[in-house]
Amino acid sequence: MVESDSGSSSASENVNKKVKQEVKCGAQTTAKPYKPSSADFSNYYEYFMPYKSIFLWLNHSQAPQDDFTKREFAFEYKSGAYQRYNSFENAKEFRDTVVKAKPVRFEVGAVYPVAPKLHKTVSKSMMKPQMKEFVLDIDLTDYDDIRTCCSGTKICPKCWKFITLAIKIVDSALREDFGFKKLIWVFSGRRGVHCWISDYRVRVLDESRRRAIVEYLDVLNVKSKNKAGISLRKPYHPHLERSFNILRDNFVDVVIREQDPWRFEDRYKELARNIPDYRLSSALLKHWKEDPSSSSATKWRDVDRLYDEMKVKSFNLQDWKREMIFKTMYPRLDVEVSRQMIHLLKSPFCIHPGTGNVCVPFDPTEKEFNPFTDAPNLSQIFNEDETDWAKTSLKGPIDFFNRYVNQLVKDETKEKRAREAEKTGLEF
Ligand code: ZN
Repeated sequence: MVESDSGSSSASENVNKKVKQEVKCGAQTTAKPYKPSSADFSNYYEYFMPYKSIFLWLNHSQAPQDDFTKREFAFEYKSGAYQRYNSFENAKEFRDTVVKAKPVRFEVGAVYPVAPKLHKTVSKSMMKPQMKEFVLDIDLTDYDDIRTCCSGTKICPKCWKFITLAIKIVDSALREDFGFKKLIWVFSGRRGVHCWISDYRVRVLDESRRRAIVEYLDVLNVKSKNKAGISLRKPYHPHLERSFNILRDNFVDVVIREQDPWRFEDRYKELARNIPDYRLSSALLKHWKEDPSSSSATKWRDVDRLYDEMKVKSFNLQDWKREMIFKTMYPRLDVEVSRQMIHLLKSPFCIHPGTGNVCVPFDPTEKEFNPFTDAPNLSQIFNEDETDWAKTSLKGPIDFFNRYVNQLVKDETKEKRAREAEKTGLEF
């Protein structure tokens, strides 16, 4: 059951005052951006970037194999230049090239039939991606229609809650509905997160199957042109039921109290437009025009009250509320990033050039990720120690990544043996 905000009107006014103060402080809570210099990048690439771990993560084995040697890397430079089709024979060549090239970031792409660095020597038909991790990209800028605390590149602890909820929902679906086990979340350095799934059976999927997975998750079709996907109609899909339980518990706090979006005329008009009964929608608009700045809690209760008073029968109010909860809070995914095999994504442990934050991996099943305390910044790290990562706040994330990667390589070795045994068995 969807509960409307049960606070009294005077209490909700107090909440509003508090919310306004927090909005003010919220902007200041945003981590102070630190624009790294060329010298910072040099030092980081020389002493901090965990090349060997990244190599193992992408190679799935100790000895270099196609998964790494035929893998595309792209470099982005300070000038804005973007260089695709880099590839490396081993972890050492990877390291030496990055240290020398000093890109502001590098991105990881797919595995091709030939080493991407040889792309000019082979026909175009040979340059079709064969394998890639399945990736997801969630960014707070896609929540600008519901956020009131920040917009654009800014984030604060209040709007970060949308990302925390998105991680919870997507992580459960990936593990429980698809049975994926090898997944890792990475902070994108400013306002979002990436998820990389390395299970073998997902790495070999073609684009149509990748599309099917992301469309299953992309209930709202926020950014997709394709309007297919899961219907919000009854009976609810188990994924929706589980997601709804997570969202419902947070709706009053995260949307109604903290974002308080329907204080604003354009947004309460949008809320009224979403009501499927014209009579009710007009009555609400008329009522809200008399006191436009009433809180979102009050307006949410107005819907209930007028629905009852006007004895509306044309739609079910609880179903509508449920839909609104999905519309405001359900994860907003970038479908194309997940679908396209040629799409590249920034590597874990890169530095965000605008904030100086390290794009650290994290485990949301252990602890919720807080970008204000859990993402080491270059200025902070270099203050702790200039050359030894183990003496800095980067130690936690690197140790975590190493544990994850070692397990991945171990499991992959076992699975590869089983796959090969099965293949040999089939030949007889
Ligand atoms: Zn915010």
